[in-house]
Amino acid sequence: MKQNNPIPCPECDRVKYFEGLCYACKNRRLREHYELLTNDQIAATIENIIAKIETIDKWEEVYKDFSGLLAYQDIDTTEIANAAFQKNIFYPPTLYRNASEEIQNKLIELILNPDCKDANHILSCLAVIGSDKVKEVFYDLEKSPLPWRKKLHVNPSFYAQLGGWTFDENGKRIELNYNQCYAIINEEREDKAVKIGEPLFENCSVCKCQTINILTIDGNDERLTFLGLNGKVKIPICPNCASMCEKTVIRYQVDGESTFEIIDPFETENYISDVDFKKLATNNLTLSKERKPVYFACGNDELSTIGGNPEWVQDWQYENCPDCQKKMKLLSAISWDQILESSEGTLYIEICTDCSIVVTFHQQT
Ligand SMILES: [Zn+2]
Ligand SMILES: [Zn+2]
Ligand SMILES: [Zn+2]
Repeated sequence: MKQNNPIPCPECDRVKYFEGLCYACKNRRLREHYELLTNDQIAATIENIIAKIETIDKWEEVYKDFSGLLAYQDIDTTEIANAAFQKNIFYPPTLYRNASEEIQNKLIELILNPDCKDANHILSCLAVIGSDKVKEVFYDLEKSPLPWRKKLHVNPSFYAQLGGWTFDENGKRIELNYNQCYAIINEEREDKAVKIGEPLFENCSVCKCQTINILTIDGNDERLTFLGLNGKVKIPICPNCASMCEKTVIRYQVDGESTFEIIDPFETENYISDVDFKKLATNNLTLSKERKPVYFACGNDELSTIGGNPEWVQDWQYENCPDCQKKMKLLSAISWDQILESSEGTLYIEICTDCSIVVTFHQQT
């Protein structure tokens, strides 16, 4: 029911123009629903997904359950992949993440057909499987393309990135995601492993907005040692410029200060109000105590993450390091919705630890 008067959300006080919970609270509730499922309930839900796999393109049927279980219960998808393959269903590609070797080989058979009709989807499914055998096949297909390649815009090494990996010209595998994931959540708890939105005493040279360390991350915290950072890394940005489309290049020193440069700014107006900035600078966002499933960011609840597989708002995007030109690794994805009322979309943060460089960029629908 649409109304003209603002109605605060009964749970978080966020102002909106419809009755009931705000979208953020609805999404949180849905996440909690999946997080609290018992093993029996998970098994029954997987059976239901398998039974109705041909409805996977409809969110309210089984897609919602699939995405909830993948993101919040880290389910094994072997049986789901079997069922999907039997019905010629190749989307979403994450259906195939734990596909058996048999299904993997059948997908490879399909892609090795010079007239493969569904190359776009089959390559995506194989990318998510991401085994060494898939890498060999992709490498061969990149060197010796089949006729279907003409209908696609990009090479197999680019499809591979959807699965969080790629390979160089010699076929050497490169990992683009970390294989562990933690969430950044609203919790009043003394925990200094990550800090979001720490104000700096400098204003942006482009738009005059006050700058912040969008993320300070303590690589020595025992939860975060998988990042290989060996100390504290500060990631400064201009929140206004970064929440539009500019790319920011940050050079960091472990346990020291960082500098940043905004690449190709096109907008000079500051859209962040003092009230919004203050909110951003006084949040309770904290690193989750427990490890989360690697697809945590791909659930319905748009929470920020460290490591893991990102949810891409648009096409997947792994930057080349501005110094060594190698592919950068996804360090973190920050959901603007969690920190800035006036912004939406996601800030992706990628890192080259060889060169001590971080690149951030923004995507929104
Ligand atoms: Zn709410
Ligand atoms: Zn700026
Ligand atoms: Zn580099």
